Amino acid sequence: MSNKIRELFSILGGDKVFTDPFDLISHSTDPGGIRGHVDAVVRAESVDDVIATVRFCRKYKIPLTPQGALSSLTGSAVPFGGIVLDLQKMCKIEEINIEDSYVVVEPGLRVEELNEELKKHGFYFPVDPTSSAVATIGGAIASGAGGIRGAKFGTIRDWTLGLDVVIGTGDLIKVGCRTVKCRQGYDLTRLFVGSEGTLGVIVKAVLQIHPIPEAVNRIVAFFSEYRDGVRAVREIKKAKIVPLAMEFMDKATMDLVSKFVGFEIPPKSEFALIVDVDAPKESIGRISEEVELILKRCGAVITSSDLSKEEIEKVFVMRKSATSTIINTSKIASFSEDVTVPPSKLPELMAEIYKIKEKYNINLFVFGHIADGNIHPRVAINSEEDFEKAKKVFREIGIKAIEMGGTTSGEHGIGIMKKDLLKYEFESRGSPIALEIMRKIKRIFDPDNIMNPGKII
Ligand SMILES: Cc1cc2nc3c(=O)[nH]c(=O)nc-3n(C[C@H](O)[C@H](O)[C@H](O)COP(=O)(O)OP(=O)(O)OC[C@H]3O[C@@H](n4cnc5c(N)ncnc54)[C@H](O)[C@@H]3O)c2cc1C
Repeated sequence: MSNKIRELFSILGGDKVFTDPFDLISHSTDPGGIRGHVDAVVRAESVDDVIATVRFCRKYKIPLTPQGALSSLTGSAVPFGGIVLDLQKMCKIEEINIEDSYVVVEPGLRVEELNEELKKHGFYFPVDPTSSAVATIGGAIASGAGGIRGAKFGTIRDWTLGLDVVIGTGDLIKVGCRTVKCRQGYDLTRLFVGSEGTLGVIVKAVLQIHPIPEAVNRIVAFFSEYRDGVRAVREIKKAKIVPLAMEFMDKATMDLVSKFVGFEIPPKSEFALIVDVDAPKESIGRISEEVELILKRCGAVITSSDLSKEEIEKVFVMRKSATSTIINTSKIASFSEDVTVPPSKLPELMAEIYKIKEKYNINLFVFGHIADGNIHPRVAINSEEDFEKAKKVFREIGIKAIEMGGTTSGEHGIGIMKKDLLKYEFESRGSPIALEIMRKIKRIFDPDNIMNPGKII
């Protein structure tokens, strides 16, 4: 390998290729604790660097793992040998077009940085993973990311208009448009969304943007029963209110996170619900009152009217920091589910999750984006015994969601963690051929299987 790496040095220049152990280790482990290994890291600065790296890897059949911020929770960005292509230096905003509501950006730009720029124009990119401070646009597209505003705005699939991609052959292809309406035969743009770096490297993206709402209000409620909280979500929807966000945390999550945020959980609180509503200024008050009434009618023990503005914000910070707090407090690792069911099935799924938690007597935290049925039960692994249990818990929860007509992943993607569950999902629907078709698609874009091999399929 070292001769080949020397060749790569001569192609790209020494300031773009890194083999220092610190660089290799920091590009080999994801936040869930999945560890891999890598022989060299390339920090691409241009499309030409990407093309040269892909062609080099193809020539020698070396695995190539594209990476943004390496914040994926599925092992999708973890390399198992070969080269990591770090895209964080390709982070320019090439165009902000307010009149036509789109931006053209490089893949290494962070979601939050894009929003800071767009704010100056009264716009935002509405897909906001809770990791938006670090998550890159390329990583978010390749993961098919969603986030807190998914209740109203869906996932990044719905906001990606066009892509430039260096596919596994080393060719650059440009797909999609700068318009929402775009019929170009088969929808290759969406094929790359969620492809987890297995088909090619995204080097440019055209994204749709949205005006920032005139007024947003955050409403918080605590319930003594999770069923009441879930019912409240249903009632809000029945009232034809479409909140910007509806997030929840269970008691275990609140107990862990509140200590770090300095918030005292109200007595008898088993379930916290956060509802963000957006509306024109003149109607935001009325809609907020309506939501608060619904929450009370559904049995909320505490609502926003009992809390200060500061306390309401703390509850949101608790939810936003749930994933990172569990990651940082788990001794060995933690496994995150990303199961998604039709929202009407949530009470049933939650009941099953708590049965599984009791069966294995494990530290399981349940929280997520409740409006779209996408929840993140997360197991903390503090011992070898936990590890074995966590694998079973992970699989059993995934199977329950699939059996309820749901899916193993709503937004995090498959990576290596959910390959078995994806297989189960297609098999249980009598459609194992779907995976075979995916393998064939991969061979077209990546005939030598160099692009992030071993992920998804
Ligand atoms: C605390 C925390 C909270 C999170 N919250 C959310 C959430 O609310 N919603 C959500 O959807 N996810 C969430 N995630 C998961 C993750 O942060 C997101 O999926 C994020 O979008 C990944 O971006 P990244 O830049 O870190 O990508 P990486 O982790 O580096 O890569 C992710 C995948 O994309 C591929 N990839 C990266 N860049 C490119 C490229 N340019 N071209 C082709 N492939 C590429 C990688 O190979 C890998 O398969 C969270 C993670 C953490 C740690």
